[in-house]
Amino acid sequence: MKRLNYSEIMVRYGELSTKGKNRKGFIMQLAQNVRSTLQEFPMIKIKADRDRMHLLLNGADSQAVIEKLQKVFGIQNFSPSIRVPKEIPALIDAVQMMMKEIYTGVESFKITAKRSDHDFVQTSEELNLTLGNAVIDLFPDIKVQMKRPDINLRVEIRLDAAYLSYETIQGAGGLPVGTSGRGMLMLSGGIDSPVAGYFAMKRGVEIEAVHFASPPYTSEQALQKAKDLTAKLAPYVGSIQFIEVPFTEVQEEIKKVVPQGYWMTITRRMMLRLTDAICQLRNGLIILNGESLGQVASQTLQSMVAINEVTNRPVVRPVATMDKLEIIEVAQQIDTFELAIQPFEDCCTIFAPPQPKTRPKLEKVYLYEERLDIEGMMQRALANLKISTITASSLSQNTEEFEDLL
Ligand code: ATP
Ligand code: MG
Repeated sequence: MKRLNYSEIMVRYGELSTKGKNRKGFIMQLAQNVRSTLQEFPMIKIKADRDRMHLLLNGADSQAVIEKLQKVFGIQNFSPSIRVPKEIPALIDAVQMMMKEIYTGVESFKITAKRSDHDFVQTSEELNLTLGNAVIDLFPDIKVQMKRPDINLRVEIRLDAAYLSYETIQGAGGLPVGTSGRGMLMLSGGIDSPVAGYFAMKRGVEIEAVHFASPPYTSEQALQKAKDLTAKLAPYVGSIQFIEVPFTEVQEEIKKVVPQGYWMTITRRMMLRLTDAICQLRNGLIILNGESLGQVASQTLQSMVAINEVTNRPVVRPVATMDKLEIIEVAQQIDTFELAIQPFEDCCTIFAPPQPKTRPKLEKVYLYEERLDIEGMMQRALANLKISTITASSLSQNTEEFEDLL
């Protein structure tokens, strides 16, 4: 079936319809998110009521709008429609025109008419007949089918006009981003953390990406890769703040004074301390990361306990219990996988000890941390954060260069 150029899109809300008193806030947030996702189409008018949201396209390219709308969380599904004057001849014309566009000669069909204007000249049943007959006049061989027809052409008679639609497009589900508060996503250049960020946004969390960079040990490309991964997540929200944390001093110091077996544990504790402080500074509520149970040394339960000990703030790990293959599947869906497997070393791989402790002991951790100027290093890192705004169009164009390097 082909798609038409539509004049309106009717949006059905997702889970938010169950949120009682908060409903208004949810709908307003969703309207705001839709507005920012569609900011390149200023002509679009958004009308949100309790049950539905209507986008009046005013000439905007409906296919481009549909693609963007499919990424907005909080939308169950939506139906693009065309607006027609409320007169029988105009309706017949429009229905026939629509069927000519979409019917390929094999589908079954039905008309589903509905009226919110009860003064309209025909009842819903009469309309079903009138318009159904108009279709049969056009395609005498077409099959009418009431149960699960291939084409269900909906006709809605509203006060201002009539609206025709035939397709329902799946939305992204979830909750509108921003309705759950803000969280700091620890974003490396790997496969897992972008997926974690995607899941967090899907549950309404507004994320900011925190990335630790250790130049010159980590390259400009590794940093760009983290930004590009953020750009891949941006279409779900419009834009994401990217916070680059200078981490060289911390890593050099740890390497100098801490025995190898504890590099990883103490490095991770420093990352978490810093993310916690950034969370505080930027009014975040929680920390998110891409840890997955048992994947590597830092992700044994014992390691997690030793690392997590530096904060009381909830650390949410959206992919903690997923298998690597399941995470990869999502990464492919959201198109972060190809980027994530590009071979740029991040700060953890470069300073990775040959044998990190998988069961670190806290007494030892305390002992080694005494050798570090934790406060001072944190202050210096926090004083030199580099914050930038990433949008979908921030994506660098050098994917081919990446391939050359492989
Ligand atoms: P990922 O695929 O997300 O890199 P991973 O399986 O490679 O995860 P680790 O490298 O051990 O696992 O990192 C675990 C988590 O720690 C990451 O998912 C991320 O949340 C955080 N992390 C690691 N390195 C960095 C970094 N350089 N900047 C920010 N966060 C990081
Ligand atoms: Mg990693």
